[in-house]
Amino acid sequence: MVFLRLSGCNLRCPFCDTDFSASKEMSAAEIIAALLATAPSLPPANRRVCITGGEPSLQLDAPLVDALHEAGFIIHLETNGTRPLPAGIDWVTLSPKEDFASNARVVLPEADELKLVFTGLNNPEKWLGFAARHYFLQPCDPGEICPADGGDSPRRNEIPYGDVERAFSEIDTTSATLKYALSHPEWRVSLQIHKILGIA
Ligand code: SF4
Repeated sequence: MVFLRLSGCNLRCPFCDTDFSASKEMSAAEIIAALLATAPSLPPANRRVCITGGEPSLQLDAPLVDALHEAGFIIHLETNGTRPLPAGIDWVTLSPKEDFASNARVVLPEADELKLVFTGLNNPEKWLGFAARHYFLQPCDPGEICPADGGDSPRRNEIPYGDVERAFSEIDTTSATLKYALSHPEWRVSLQIHKILGIA
């Protein structure tokens, strides 16, 4: 799996760990060439790309989806679900942010997997009514607060619920996630393994 990170997001989550300050404009052909150069030994049958962001739906369009398919890529995508997606994406991961940001209402009708950031205080229950094949809980990582804002974050003033602040200061979110998943087996635990392994 190679990752394609599209710059920019329409939300301002208080725990966002994405630096939006760096970006480079590229054509579809340049993107595909860069993906193939990153994983040159991948045989066409095993080419997978995960498109993430930021919020990739701000930029992803049908011609890029078609070009990726023509180059043999199976397309995975991670989205906050607030915007419609172009047709043809092979695997959609929805990570709803309604608990954490204003204007974050989910408009997608379904997803392959739903991945909910868990602070220990937000309620996963309502998301089991969303049409998805898999449900994952991911511990909220309070370790990185808005690097794009230099740590002195105006985003923190946009937090609609005090719960997030409380989670940052009082709750071991990983333990809370494990505990919740063990007593609610319809949820599985998702970890940010790249952070655990220190591979950015
Ligand atoms: S939706 Fe994701 S990328 Fe956008 S601000 Fe929230 S955590 Fe960051």
